[in-house]
Amino acid sequence: MPEEFEPVTIGDLIAGNHGLTAHCRNCGHWKSVNPLAIPLPPCRPIPALEGAFKCTLCGSRNTCAMPDYNKDKENRLPRAAGWIMPPAQ
Ligand SMILES: [Zn+2]
Repeated sequence: MPEEFEPVTIGDLIAGNHGLTAHCRNCGHWKSVNPLAIPLPPCRPIPALEGAFKCTLCGSRNTCAMPDYNKDKENRLPRAAGWIMPPAQ
């Protein structure tokens, strides 16, 4: 067993048809985001999305993202509505 875990990437979520949840630590706002709608390279690890989202409720960038493995395919959200992402780097 490897000592370190490989971080899950945006591409992993897309490949597995998983979702992503963005969470605002400032006001508690959270929202499901379609990984396909994230304008960042698929190799970007999810932990690196820290601060990448801007909360539209309070404007804070004190945000984090986490994989959502319980995403229901039937309930797939079409776009990252409600969140602003920076341009791809
Ligand atoms: Zn907020």
